Amino acid sequence: MNLVLFGPPGAGKGTQAQSVCVEYGLVHLSTGNLFRAHISNETPLGKEVKSILDAGELVPDSIVLNMVKEELQKPAFQKGVVFDGFPRTVAQAEGLQDVMKEVNTSIDAFIMLDVPNDVLVQRLLSRGEGRSDDTEKKIQHRLDVYQKETTPVKGYYESKGTVYSILGIGTIEEVFSRIQSVIDSL
Ligand code: AMP
Repeated sequence: MNLVLFGPPGAGKGTQAQSVCVEYGLVHLSTGNLFRAHISNETPLGKEVKSILDAGELVPDSIVLNMVKEELQKPAFQKGVVFDGFPRTVAQAEGLQDVMKEVNTSIDAFIMLDVPNDVLVQRLLSRGEGRSDDTEKKIQHRLDVYQKETTPVKGYYESKGTVYSILGIGTIEEVFSRIQSVIDSL
């Protein structure tokens, strides 16, 4: 089973992805985490993308897709993947479709976490992870980038009939049980 956990910054994708992986024996693939690891390890890729993450802009599709393709070569991902923060553009969604086709698999569900904007800003400001892109100005910019560049990805999966929208507010456990209902219905 392969899932996309989708939603704006602060929707709780990372937290929920971890719970889903534990419960269903899947492997978490967060492009944001991968980029942050490259940055802290000062790899050539990390050096290339640091200023992009700091500015809250999107990393170019070709770089993201190459990194994801390489990551998916790891045998662990054969168990099934929970994508978090990816795909973030329609071009990435198309690229993912091609990669999945090559290995005879597909995305079983695209789960959208709906959270009102004011709640997102509050969550991101109080997240306290010390992320350089969690300042008020950059948060607003990331939400704008999400609206403009990332929301069309939902339309892409709608055309494939795999979209499930759930309410992303309430406790972590409440949101998780809504996600479980979706997965258990697949
Ligand atoms: P996240 O941890 O998912 O909020 O991602 C943090 C930052 O990493 C984003 O603001 C982007 O700069 C970059 N990033 C992560 N995933 C992607 C992606 N799929 N496409 C483009 N940029 C990404």
